[in-house]
Amino acid sequence: MEKKVALITGATRGIGKQIAIKLAKGGYNIALNYRTENEDLNLTKAQIEDLNVKCLAVKGDVSNFEDCENVVKTIIEDFGQIDVLVNNAGITKDMLLMRMKKEDFEQVINVNLVGTFNMTKNVINYMLKARSGRIINISSVVGISGNAGQTNYAASKAGIIGFTKSLAKEVASRNVLVNAVAPGFIQTNMTDVLKDELKEEIAKNIPLNRMGTAEDVANVVKFLASEDSSYITGQVINVDGGMLM
Ligand code: NAP
Repeated sequence: MEKKVALITGATRGIGKQIAIKLAKGGYNIALNYRTENEDLNLTKAQIEDLNVKCLAVKGDVSNFEDCENVVKTIIEDFGQIDVLVNNAGITKDMLLMRMKKEDFEQVINVNLVGTFNMTKNVINYMLKARSGRIINISSVVGISGNAGQTNYAASKAGIIGFTKSLAKEVASRNVLVNAVAPGFIQTNMTDVLKDELKEEIAKNIPLNRMGTAEDVANVVKFLASEDSSYITGQVINVDGGMLM
């Protein structure tokens, strides 16, 4: 049987990388979207290829619609299909609203929310035609709870939830399932920049008493991509050690 194809955005490190590896271990051919060409990219690509699946790395900034068009075109030319899209690429630019620059608000919305639209818009027709597909959007618990210093980020992640539920209703009749995963406090470059005292403070409020790993998130994405979740759409699944209940 032909291997299924999964496209993961921003997959050179952190959560995206672990999702790509997890799906590769599950036998998917991987289309790995990246923005910056660096050692992380080469390493991730090599690790995926070691798992005996194909890995196509395609450069593109998700906040740029034409880039997304080209990314999808390149993958279709090479693999002929996209069965799973994981909108993972994301950034933070934290600051209290009082001091937040307009550009920092816009940039976070453009990468996290508009980027999710850009990639999905370019992939969706292939899934509708195939009458099959999975779209998994990486949101965040702060998109549900809000967080001081993250008006831009929380708005983008809340927007992703609204986008997910609306699209799920639009495409369910064609067997395209759309869900969101809302990670809590996960150990990656994104959280490495936080001060140790702040990390300790956050960790204290996690019932499972530890930060999450990128693999904790990847496990749920793998489930949502699989046949085991074929009756689940329009949902947001928190992966947060019980942080938000
Ligand atoms: P990360 O380690 O900072 O990785 C982010 C990835 O996204 C990098 O590969 C980055 O590539 C890529 N990226 C950023 N902007 C891009 C763009 N415009 N186009 C394409 N790729 C782009 O972050 P992470 O922690 O793994 O986060 C992954 C996702 O999980 C994000 O959506 C984040 O908001 C979400 N999340 C994370 C946490 C957490 O605690 N870590 C919690 C909740 C949600 P470059 O190398 O080019 O920058």
